Amino acid sequence: MENLELLVDLHRNTERQGPGGEAETLQAMHLAGLDTDTPLEIADIGCGTGASTLLLARELNARVNAVDLMPEFIAELRGKAAAQGLSDRITARVEAMDALSFDDEAFDVVWSEGAVYNIGFERGAKAWRCFLRPGGILAVSEVTWLTDERPPELQAFWSEAYPEIDTAAGKIRVLERAGYTPIGYFVLSERCWLDHYYRPLRGRFEAFLERHGHSVDARALVQAEQDEIAMYEKYKAYFSYGFYIARKTA
Ligand code: SAH
Repeated sequence: MENLELLVDLHRNTERQGPGGEAETLQAMHLAGLDTDTPLEIADIGCGTGASTLLLARELNARVNAVDLMPEFIAELRGKAAAQGLSDRITARVEAMDALSFDDEAFDVVWSEGAVYNIGFERGAKAWRCFLRPGGILAVSEVTWLTDERPPELQAFWSEAYPEIDTAAGKIRVLERAGYTPIGYFVLSERCWLDHYYRPLRGRFEAFLERHGHSVDARALVQAEQDEIAMYEKYKAYFSYGFYIARKTA
């Protein structure tokens, strides 16, 4: 079995595939000043199984166009949308975030939680700008340093995993250079990592390993996830996800 298939199998039945939470998605919505009555067109990029997609569709008068690279996640989201009576508000399809087929200026809002790192924050912010109408909102969460200095072990881990990690000041500067006016930023709480993401994930390890006969690849994946969790628990004072809200500069 390919490692990607293992990754999808481990994550497909969890509510979120990255750190986040309903309260934080709502907080970002409020910071963005999104009106609950005005009809909105929203893109949710790297939607996973759709935690944010479903919430946006439920809370706003919106049509949400959700895209993700993994067909299994899209299938899961479609099932949830149907079960929650939201199918008429949600379109979900498989697309790569660096080759999106959306029309220019199609959206009032481009949303993306815990996903832009796959192509890089700067590249994503630049590439997605054309899909926003003038004055449209970009709402994106991204791994962020919380301090100016940090332990060498942590610095080395992230330099390897995602060299684009930066402080909020750095991320906001990137947004300004990419043609946005920043509106707000906040840090995701520990609950977003531990209660909403890592704890449910950890609870799946045993059954996952059994399902795959404790194969070398399955064990390696679980070990990698455990290393990541340990890194978070040890160094959570130094990094988190930041949620960035910005307006497309006309
Ligand atoms: N937004 C979801 C998922 C975050 S995990 C949540 O907050 O729960 C990151 C997601 O990005 C995964 O679902 C993964 O399948 C997707 N992804 C990775 N590379 C991608 C790419 N190139 N294009 C589109 N989606 C991608």
